[in-house]
Amino acid sequence: MRRGSWKIRIFIGLAIVAFAFIKRCNSKEENPYTGRIQTINMSSDQEIAIGLQSAPQIAQQYGGLYPDKQMQAYVDKIGNRLVKNSIASETPYQYDFHLLADDQTINAFALPGGPIFITYALYKQLNEAQLAGVLGHEIGHVIGRHSAERIAEGEFWQTVSTGASVGGDLGDLVGGIGQNTLLSNGRDDELESDDLGVLFMMQSGYEPEEMITVMKILKEAAGPNRVPEFQSTHPDPENRIEKIRESIQKYRNQ
Ligand SMILES: [Zn+2]
Repeated sequence: MRRGSWKIRIFIGLAIVAFAFIKRCNSKEENPYTGRIQTINMSSDQEIAIGLQSAPQIAQQYGGLYPDKQMQAYVDKIGNRLVKNSIASETPYQYDFHLLADDQTINAFALPGGPIFITYALYKQLNEAQLAGVLGHEIGHVIGRHSAERIAEGEFWQTVSTGASVGGDLGDLVGGIGQNTLLSNGRDDELESDDLGVLFMMQSGYEPEEMITVMKILKEAAGPNRVPEFQSTHPDPENRIEKIRESIQKYRNQ
């Protein structure tokens, strides 16, 4: 490469990084249901489309749907009760609750736009209020638009890291920062979903303390030498139980 071209490379690199930051600024919007400002670059219709499109494959990874229609109807009943009694009913999202056949993997998760899943392995350990706690937490992920936010943040860091690797050889370094940012946001997602889950439980007439029991059940399931899959989709934040207690107090005093 001829001399002097490094200046051009740095200039282009900085321009790409600046572009990423400006784009991110323009993608800031206030979540109408949580009031939180977040980076989003898709519409709720797009979220719904992504969720519907990926739901069948994801269900397949957990052995498909649980065959017992009565149990599925029970999950629907509790999920719909949470939606009906909360702000979830005022959102455009299409909540759809699925009991998965997998009786080994302890997991529950939500896709953008509304599809919500719980494995039989987790389901069978929960009473009604605890199931409401898990489903309420997952509804919280949908309303918090956490997947859409992760996607937008991911694109941002990808563009920054492209800019950095053009300008210098910092691509890997910035890429690393990006990953950490994604993970730490994930912990905030969990806390926001716990908080919303507690609120939805209370609005639907469930004892919110059962959410604390859910956390204990999950911790126990992890065991000394078994990491449940739940941990991979749900990084366990510190002080999670403490924060749940704070949420209960907060909503009781309202
Ligand atoms: Zn979660």
